[in-house]
Amino acid sequence: MARPLIEIANLKKAFGQNVVLKDISLQIERGQVVAMIGPSGSGKSTLLRCINLLSIPNAGRITVGEQTIEFDGARTALPSERSLARFRASTGMVFQHFNLFPHMTALRNVMEGPVTVLKTPKAQAEAEARALLAKVGLLERADYYPDKLSGGQKQRVAIARALAMKPTVMLFDEATSALDPELVGEVLNVIKGLAREGMTMILVTHEIGFAREVADQVIFMRDGIVAECGPPGIVIDNPRQESTRAFLGRFK
Ligand code: ADP
Ligand code: MG
Repeated sequence: MARPLIEIANLKKAFGQNVVLKDISLQIERGQVVAMIGPSGSGKSTLLRCINLLSIPNAGRITVGEQTIEFDGARTALPSERSLARFRASTGMVFQHFNLFPHMTALRNVMEGPVTVLKTPKAQAEAEARALLAKVGLLERADYYPDKLSGGQKQRVAIARALAMKPTVMLFDEATSALDPELVGEVLNVIKGLAREGMTMILVTHEIGFAREVADQVIFMRDGIVAECGPPGIVIDNPRQESTRAFLGRFK
């Protein structure tokens, strides 16, 4: 059997005395969509941030595609900045609050990473950025600054910006939680389109219906552990654990 595209093994992360991720292990195949659900404070954002190396794990191993990075808890053994940056570039992150560069147009936001990090020639970066803006339905907004865009439009630019780095996996941390209800659909539709194209994705979401629809695998996080993991028909519709059932009951 082929090796999984993403493998997380025995990942641990603490902030001081607060152990937030306790020995997380999971595997994701190429093209899979994984929905991560669970109560506030259970460690979902921390796990995404560790996969993206925005947060440095204390221990464990992360493989994304061809790259593996290992943390053994000793500060002296931290991987070099260069290998961290290279690894980080293989994961595209989309945040709840968009985090666009406010002083750049939509087009410049999408071009920035390829030009500065990947050293893509400007003309090529611009052509690719326009194609990505077209893909998220915003080509005609290319020259708009973020403050002239709606929340849904900003989030679609943020998705295009992450895609511009040609990541191996896309990570979404509650990408629709900050949006007015009428703008949620346009962002979910873009994510659905990516799923159809075979993009490997991890979505932290409270949109349980959406998770059921697009996810191949659902992970229920509780107190820093993967409490349940499996297809949506099990984890969402027929959870084994009482805590999962209680959490999901709030969305009924
Ligand atoms: P979730 O996304 O599931 O709501 P988080 O991963 O944001 O949970 O948070 C899990 C725990 O980690 C919380 O107790 C939170 O206070 C703590 N935490 C997260 N980030 C930090 C940080 N940068 N410094 C200290 N504690 C943090
Ligand atoms: Mg969170």
